Amino acid sequence: MTDYQTPRNPDMSAPRYTGIPTFMRAPLADTLENIDIALIGIPYDGALTNRPGARHGPREVRNQSSLMRAINHATRINPYELCKIADVGDVPFNSVFNIEDSHRDIEDFVSSVISGGAIPLSCGGDHSVSLPLLRATAKSPVALIHIDAHTDTWDSFQGSKFNHGAPFRRAHEEGLIIPEKTVQIGIRGAQNVSEGWDYSEGNGMRVMFIEEVQNRGIEAAVEETRAIIGDTPVYITFDIDSIDPAFAPGTGTPEIGGLTPPEALGLIRGFRKLNHIGADVVEISPPFDNGDLTSLTGATVMYELLCLLAETVSLR
Ligand code: MN
Ligand code: MN
Repeated sequence: MTDYQTPRNPDMSAPRYTGIPTFMRAPLADTLENIDIALIGIPYDGALTNRPGARHGPREVRNQSSLMRAINHATRINPYELCKIADVGDVPFNSVFNIEDSHRDIEDFVSSVISGGAIPLSCGGDHSVSLPLLRATAKSPVALIHIDAHTDTWDSFQGSKFNHGAPFRRAHEEGLIIPEKTVQIGIRGAQNVSEGWDYSEGNGMRVMFIEEVQNRGIEAAVEETRAIIGDTPVYITFDIDSIDPAFAPGTGTPEIGGLTPPEALGLIRGFRKLNHIGADVVEISPPFDNGDLTSLTGATVMYELLCLLAETVSLR
């Protein structure tokens, strides 16, 4: 007899196009207790400086993530065997027209997730959401792996210092990240002023421009990053615009000449068994997408991050 109480078919044997889409077809949690890894939607794009639409990212990534299966073909990790994983829904917002208040809503919700014992894996949303994510996650200063076309260490824009080009400058000022253990990978694109690059390099962050990554190769980038981070608790933030817009056009600030999807997956897989405390994927803008390509790429990146987090959690 069919068990209609089971939140999802545990062996994922139901056709993948059926059911209400949660992230990875994980059960939708009705409590924050008893979860190892919480999948969180952050539908907020009030801090963008260019093309909009990242508020629609979580819903479309949920949809495309129904294509994800369980066992990673490269690492043979099955995160669902290692951990209790649930979709805890979207951050509830109360003041979407105010950036600081919205960031407080994110921090409050993610803090309650962490208090319940889970570590967060979030899907944005514009990149400003990583600041409140770090505020909730970093109990003391943490290491940061930041994969992006942009350093996001610019300062105020149009009167707001919380715009999506500034979260890691604010995180540094607030003592949330250790600059000497912050690695920014895939940086590129002309700028009108070099302020962001200068801020990162001038404060001790390791900035790997895309040419260096491609000339030295992914393995070298992984090796150096691992040596920099060591055992320090580390947060990974993945901006989808790190990937070339040929593969991920649905984003707000596209820059050509980016990572290929295999390079991006190789990078993430290189960070196995670090001391992971959380991760996010941001800047997916479905209205600018073609054939759901960017959302599928974002969902796949999120699945790879889930495998990383699950392995580390299972080893604790
Ligand atoms: Mn970014
Ligand atoms: Mn970016």
